[in-house]
Amino acid sequence: MVDKKDIIVCLSCDDVHPELFWGLKNKDIYTNIDNIFKIVDMFGAKFTLFVPTNWNNQFDITKHLGWFTYFPKEHFEFALHGNTHRNFEKNLPIEFFDKSKSEFETDVLKSIQMFKECNIEINGIRPPGWYINSEQLDVLFGLKCINYMGLHESGSKPIFVNGKYIVPVTFSIHEDYEIKDTDKVLFIHSHIFDPTSNTDNTFNRINTEKLINFFNKNKDKYNFIFKTIGEVTNGTMF
Ligand SMILES: [Zn+2]
Repeated sequence: MVDKKDIIVCLSCDDVHPELFWGLKNKDIYTNIDNIFKIVDMFGAKFTLFVPTNWNNQFDITKHLGWFTYFPKEHFEFALHGNTHRNFEKNLPIEFFDKSKSEFETDVLKSIQMFKECNIEINGIRPPGWYINSEQLDVLFGLKCINYMGLHESGSKPIFVNGKYIVPVTFSIHEDYEIKDTDKVLFIHSHIFDPTSNTDNTFNRINTEKLINFFNKNKDKYNFIFKTIGEVTNGTMF
């Protein structure tokens, strides 16, 4: 028998919020969130869900407290993904684009407070559209509760800077990926849904099957250890 190599897997999904097709479970309709639960059930997987705290100014998480109870703590971690996700004041698709340092700080602190009101502790953020400028990054470096920022770096190793981790994406679930000998952690990324089909990287049926095949194809060689991003960045692993 060949010795299997341990490899950590951090699955993450963006844009999840309490709306049908975007993360709200409905017993009569199978949606992409059910695909995430399928991966949890099949492999004992864990997920980091990046949640906008008030998607489109319509889905304020503090008004949907019951929603969080769908997600058992052993398998799910929540992290911040902006407030409205869009910049409504300036009619821009990406929330933090064009926001001053103080506007950004106000937004982020507001979202952190909203999670607090839901009794959810968060450690990380991925800015909507992955957009952040250096002044905004400075704000995050100053925030005690933030341990990590999921940004658009590639690779499988976070960068540790100013006491925080900048977490990369190793691959997205619609892509083919061959595990490298040097990989210690696989940061696997997706979005919950995209009605405009601008992105292929969503938790649809095809991509879910692809992810299942990825784990099955590699399971004789690798022992997958599922962790949330918060768990791998909470210590001295890197
Ligand atoms: Zn997003």
